[in-house]
Amino acid sequence: MIGTQAPVTVGWENIPKVEGGPVKRFIFTWFQPTVFFALLAFFYYAPNSIAKMSTAMGIGIGFRVLLLGLEWVNPRHDSWRLTWKELTTDLFYVSLGYTLLRIVKSYIGSDVIEEAVLHYVHWDKFTWFMSLPLLLQAFLIAFIFDFGQYWMHRGMHNWYPLWLPHSVHHYITQLNINKGAVGNPVELFLIGLGIGGFLDFLPRAFLISRVFDMAIGEYQHINVRFNSPKWWRFLFYTTEHHSVHHSQDYEATRSNYSGSFIFIDRIFGTCVDGEAELLGMEGGRRMSIREQMTYPFTEGWKMRKVLFGRLLAGPAGEAVSAE
Ligand SMILES: [Zn+2]
Ligand SMILES: [Zn+2]
Repeated sequence: MIGTQAPVTVGWENIPKVEGGPVKRFIFTWFQPTVFFALLAFFYYAPNSIAKMSTAMGIGIGFRVLLLGLEWVNPRHDSWRLTWKELTTDLFYVSLGYTLLRIVKSYIGSDVIEEAVLHYVHWDKFTWFMSLPLLLQAFLIAFIFDFGQYWMHRGMHNWYPLWLPHSVHHYITQLNINKGAVGNPVELFLIGLGIGGFLDFLPRAFLISRVFDMAIGEYQHINVRFNSPKWWRFLFYTTEHHSVHHSQDYEATRSNYSGSFIFIDRIFGTCVDGEAELLGMEGGRRMSIREQMTYPFTEGWKMRKVLFGRLLAGPAGEAVSAE
């Protein structure tokens, strides 16, 4: 049962609203839909010379800086406010992410990917898809990716070998704009390297599909209190959803696996509408960077018998039965 180990607030009606004057409440109600539709319109109408992945990445960084400002002005929880210690860890992971991306980029190179994609993907088979309205194409691409990410994430929470690399991300004790990057690097490869970031040759629909990531997925790890409109939080993933997923209550963490479209969780019965302030594992034990790097391997070694079952139990082990 949810709420037996650590407090989790369940139900939208029980979640605090943004306090303050009408202007402030107006801004924090309509910020998310406004940014979302503005970005969609921008990448839909922009000429090809501007509508590029590099532009999207630049806007993405600017948007993060803006959110950082909002975290400072209107934090969801004061206990999640940034400390120097947290910031140091975050910056380490953010730069690690950019470095890995750069290495992959320099080794593979976008022209190699372009050649492979143009060679192996038979675009003529997708003409029916490309004749759909552009926004529908973009939505379907984002949906397919989020559907895949839903099952990968759900798998991580249900199968020990996948849980090991993901578990490190669940040791974070607060949410803020950089926390999406914190976790064991092995997980990066499981969730996907975000190599889409430099595939400029793909059709416009792929670029527009990134808006769903940027203007919805980005809110997973952030410390801002919004009065998201009802329809928004019914369809789209919110910080509240992800805080339940990161709570200290084991049952509550087995929910909200999607990244942008919370309705996927609703369809499969894994959605919990609510929020939590106390986050983390083992009662909120904080991990050092060194432990974050080694934990999946040391823990996996300790649990190798569980991982490989009888295989390593040995010929004389008690696990050997009547063969
Ligand atoms: Zn998780
Ligand atoms: Zn997370």
